[in-house]
Amino acid sequence: MAPEPVIRRLLELDTRHVWHPYGPMPATVPPLLVEEAAGVRLRLADGRELVDGMSSWWAAIHGYRHPALDTALTEQITRMSHVMFGGLTHEPAITLASALVDITPAGLEHVFLCDSGSVSVEVALKMCLQYWRSVGRRGKRRMLTWRGGYHGDTFHPMSVCDPEGGMHALWRGVLPEQVFVPAPPSGFDTPVDPSYADTLVRAVREHADELAAVVVEPVVQGAGGMQFHNPEYLRVLREVTEECGVLLVFDEIATGFGRTGTLFAAEHAGVTPDVMCVGKALTGGYLTMAATLCTFEVAEGISRGEVPVLAHGPTFMGNPLASAVANASLGLLSDGTWREEVRRIERRLRDGLAAARDVPGVVDVRVLGAIGVVQLDHPVDMAVATEALTSRGVWLRPFRDLIYTMPPYVTSDSDIDLITDAMVATAGVA
Ligand SMILES: *Cc1c(COP(=O)(O)O)cnc(C)c1O
Repeated sequence: MAPEPVIRRLLELDTRHVWHPYGPMPATVPPLLVEEAAGVRLRLADGRELVDGMSSWWAAIHGYRHPALDTALTEQITRMSHVMFGGLTHEPAITLASALVDITPAGLEHVFLCDSGSVSVEVALKMCLQYWRSVGRRGKRRMLTWRGGYHGDTFHPMSVCDPEGGMHALWRGVLPEQVFVPAPPSGFDTPVDPSYADTLVRAVREHADELAAVVVEPVVQGAGGMQFHNPEYLRVLREVTEECGVLLVFDEIATGFGRTGTLFAAEHAGVTPDVMCVGKALTGGYLTMAATLCTFEVAEGISRGEVPVLAHGPTFMGNPLASAVANASLGLLSDGTWREEVRRIERRLRDGLAAARDVPGVVDVRVLGAIGVVQLDHPVDMAVATEALTSRGVWLRPFRDLIYTMPPYVTSDSDIDLITDAMVATAGVA
C-alpha cells in the first residue's frame, strides 16, 4: 500500500503527462492506480482489491502471476531477452510458430510474428493485397466486411472497423474506402436468415473483381459491440469467396485461445480461412505479441511475385521473452482443462446475469463461452458505473451501452457471482 501523498503525486503526474487509451489529454476521469495483480485480483495502491472481470482487455486468460508463466519468463531472461529476427532465429519463436500451425485450423501453414494485434491485421491485409499483385490482379485491392466489426486502431485496420466506431466520417479522404454489408443478425443460436446469407453472397459476387479479401471477426464481434452471430454465415463467406476468387481473413485476436468455447471461433463453423490473426491471449496477457498465419497458397503466391518478399519486419519481431511466455500459455491450454472451465463460466454467467433481464433499461443479456454482456437502452454513465462496480469489489470497463465481462478462465464460481451481481446492480444505476 502506498502512502496517500505518494498516490496523489503519481495521479497528478499521470493526469499531466500520460495519455490513456481512447481518452482526451488531460483525462477527465482519473484512472485507478494498480500496485500488484495476482490470480484474478488487482491490488490498488490504496489497498483495495478488485476482481478483474476484463482479463486486461481479454488477454490474461490464466490470471496474473501464474507460476508457469512467471517461470517461463524468468528462465528465458537468463538466456536472452531479445535478438533481431532478420537473419537470426531461436527456439522460442520456432516452437511457438510450429505450435500455432498445429492448433489452428488445418491448412494454415506459415506464421508471421507481429508485435500487436493491429499490426497483425496490417500484415494480413498486406499479404492479401500483395498476393493479388503478385499473381497479376492489381485491380483486386479493396476489402469487404460487415458492419459492427473492430480490427485495430492503425489506419488500414481502421478502414475495416465499423464506420461509426472507427470514426470514418472523421477520416474521410484518409482511410481506404472498403465495401460494407450490414452486420450479421444477432445471436449465436439465432437460425440462419437466408436473405442475409444472400446479401453476403451477392455483395461478394458483385465486387469480386475489385476485392482482395473479405475480413471478419468470426462468431463474436468484440470491441465493435459485443455481438454474436450464427457460425453458418462464416461457411457462406467461405463458399462464396472460394467461388469468386477472393481471400478470406479471420481476425481471431479476441476469440482465439478458447474464449468462445472452442479453441478458435473458426471451429464453430468448421472453416479454414486463407489468413488468420491471433493476439491478445497469445501470451496469456503477459507481453505484447500477435501473429498472422496464412496458407501455402498465399505464401507461395507472394513469394513468386515480381517483388518476391513480404516487406514487413518489426524491430521486436519474434521477441524471445514474448515467445517463451506464449509457449508456456499454450502449454497450460494443451491439457484441455480450459474447455471445462469456459463451460463452467458460461453456465455461471447465464445463471448470474439472468436477473439483469428484469432490470429497467436493459435491452439484452447474452452469454457465449466466457463472455457475458448486458446491453442497456442508453450509453453507460462511466463514472457511475465504475463507482458501482468498484464499490462491489469488481473491475470492469463498460463501453457505449454495454456492461460486459470476459473473465480469466481460472475465475472461481464465487468470483463469477461477485462479477455478475455487480453487473446486475450497475445496470440498474448506470
Ligand atoms: C484488440 C483487437 C485488435 C487490435 O489488437 P491490438 O493488440 O490492440 O492492436 C484487432 N482485432 C480484434 C478483433 C481485437 O479484439
